Amino acid sequence: MIDFQGTIEAIYNDLKQTPEKGIVASYIPELSKQSSESLGIHIQHIDGRTFQIGDWNVPFSIQSISKVLALSKAIVFENKRIWERMDVEPSGNPFNHLSLLEMEDGIPRNPLINAGAIVVADILITHLENPKMDFLNYVREITGDDSIDYNLQVAASEQQTGFRNHAAANLLKSFGNLNNDVDVVLDFYFHQCALEMDCSQLAKAFFLFANKGICINDNKHISSSQAKRINAIMLTCGFYDEAGEFAFEVGLPGKSGVGGGIVALLPNNFVISTWAPGLNARGNSLLGMQALEQFTTKTNRSIF
Ligand code: GLN
Repeated sequence: MIDFQGTIEAIYNDLKQTPEKGIVASYIPELSKQSSESLGIHIQHIDGRTFQIGDWNVPFSIQSISKVLALSKAIVFENKRIWERMDVEPSGNPFNHLSLLEMEDGIPRNPLINAGAIVVADILITHLENPKMDFLNYVREITGDDSIDYNLQVAASEQQTGFRNHAAANLLKSFGNLNNDVDVVLDFYFHQCALEMDCSQLAKAFFLFANKGICINDNKHISSSQAKRINAIMLTCGFYDEAGEFAFEVGLPGKSGVGGGIVALLPNNFVISTWAPGLNARGNSLLGMQALEQFTTKTNRSIF
């Protein structure tokens, strides 16, 4: 039996000593209030056990991690048709990169870069009656936690400074790959990114991807085939131009956000989430990546 608690305690104690903690994101001004000293780790095992250490119960902005949750909702509405509007190839570029979108006629490389996530937001707006409320309710339901909410200051902060996202949405619109108004789609996207969760809630939210589409409350939301495909997309595209590095170092499907969160999972085993706001040069949590590398190495648990 693996000593999960002992393992994450050892990793936590090691990383707390590291002087190099990365740089907190500041291009969304509200996020710059976070401290690079924060560090939390949480494991939600498929058998119900949980393990945690550090700042695992402090809520943070999940940012791009929300793109996976939005995709899991959109895929139910559109199923395979969703892939007519975006691809499933890694981009090898930063999350907010634009020139590929122009070269590839407004078809985003994948749903986890910003342009792809903006198309997913467009799909949700088309299908949901009250998009922001309905999406929030979906996240609350799969997590089994009604206290989850949007941080409206973070959403407003990105609304004011999200110039590249405005550019991406307008480019998509010009190619005919957005059906709704640019401002309506971006308002939804900024709220989705401003969802706030702690490590424990995040691990619960991703339980369905480790459990063949069945959430922690035992309800089936996506098929096991859809869960398989979403995990594949996380593995190949979840860390932008560092997806190869994450697969190489950690070996699990996962997703990062510029709020410093990472969530990763081993299908049929566990979901592990980390939060450490200092980012590396590619916009992924520096300590979070190190924690997960140590975790899969010490426990010998990865998809490989
Ligand atoms: N809301 C952020 C953005 O669009 C999300 C980026 C991220 O977390 N990588 O820039």
